[in-house]
Amino acid sequence: MSVRPEPRPGVMQIDAYVPGKSKAAAGVKVHKLSSNETPLGPSPKAIEAFNSFDHLELYPDGSAMKLREAIGAKYGLDPNRIVCGAGSDELLSLVTYAYMGPGDEGLYSEHGFLVYRIAILAAGGTPVVAPEKDYRTDVDAILSRVTDKTKIVFLANPNNPTGTYIPFDEVKRLHAGLPPHVLLVLDAAYAEYVRRNDYESGLELVATSENVVMMRTFSKIYGLANLRIGWMVAPAHIADAVNRIRGPFNMNGPALAAGVAAVQDEAHVVKAVEHNAQWLEWLTGEIEALGLKVTPSVANFLMINFPAEAGKTAKEADEFLSGRGLILRRIDAYGLPNALRLTVGSEEANRLVVEALRDFMKGGNNA
Ligand SMILES: *Cc1c(COP(=O)(O)O)cnc(C)c1O
Repeated sequence: MSVRPEPRPGVMQIDAYVPGKSKAAAGVKVHKLSSNETPLGPSPKAIEAFNSFDHLELYPDGSAMKLREAIGAKYGLDPNRIVCGAGSDELLSLVTYAYMGPGDEGLYSEHGFLVYRIAILAAGGTPVVAPEKDYRTDVDAILSRVTDKTKIVFLANPNNPTGTYIPFDEVKRLHAGLPPHVLLVLDAAYAEYVRRNDYESGLELVATSENVVMMRTFSKIYGLANLRIGWMVAPAHIADAVNRIRGPFNMNGPALAAGVAAVQDEAHVVKAVEHNAQWLEWLTGEIEALGLKVTPSVANFLMINFPAEAGKTAKEADEFLSGRGLILRRIDAYGLPNALRLTVGSEEANRLVVEALRDFMKGGNNA
């Protein structure tokens, strides 16, 4: 018998998620480019809705009705199929708890978002990892690892931290190859940023099947990461299951109000998409011109690779940039020790990053 309470099997195998850093050397202006937050901030209408929220003594609407209606109106979805959560992180956990337990397997790809692994282990399941090709999801590698024990396949599309995506044809091929008992979770946190004709977030697949859900977030293009707002759209039977285990008041009133205002401000989203397209391309070109390799990204961040030939390591680059107040993301935990992830920032921040990388590659110092 244990002399003290012991967590369930799996819990102590979890390496707690390490968020992007937000501090740099003392005395320098900080540009946080480590968590894929938007440099444009939230819609002014969302800020106004948040600030004018009153009656903190009252419980919020536990059904998030107005937010589900606003999302439904924008995307042409039945609000009854939408579930809102405290970030898509909460929804990823809830779906996993609802469909996975000890002895079950959860599948994700090699450099996939680490929250999947945490959710699988927390539910008592076994993580199974499918290798990628050129930092891209490999549908055949995933399909070949599906067993009778597989309960969920997680796919971030575009993926974080690589920034790569697979075309909708490939997503459909993945779905077609899965047995009907396997749940496919499409995580489209960066969908709004993608400008590719062959990309789709997956709404169509959710509408036409019984085993696909899609997760979305207000943390990225909507600029509301601090308020923790995510949503998923699912077949009715899955929405029903998740609603049974969801905390009855998992969303707060100010977040719900800001979310409604944000989703209705389409002009703000358009502005963010344009800013990102312009600077993603600029950053990619400028950084490659320095002799570094950028993995082609369709999201609001990019992965900078420091090949051995460059004679410089990602760790050294991170220290150099931090010295100038430029905070990027180390991604060793994703099996990518030779790369850094850079969020597309303001014009000022983007220019400073390129200038600093240029000095770094020339062997300069921050003195
Ligand atoms: C940022 C991100 C999310 C969103 O998380 P929230 O909990 O909604 O803030 C989900 N999936 C991926 C792949 C992400 O990068």
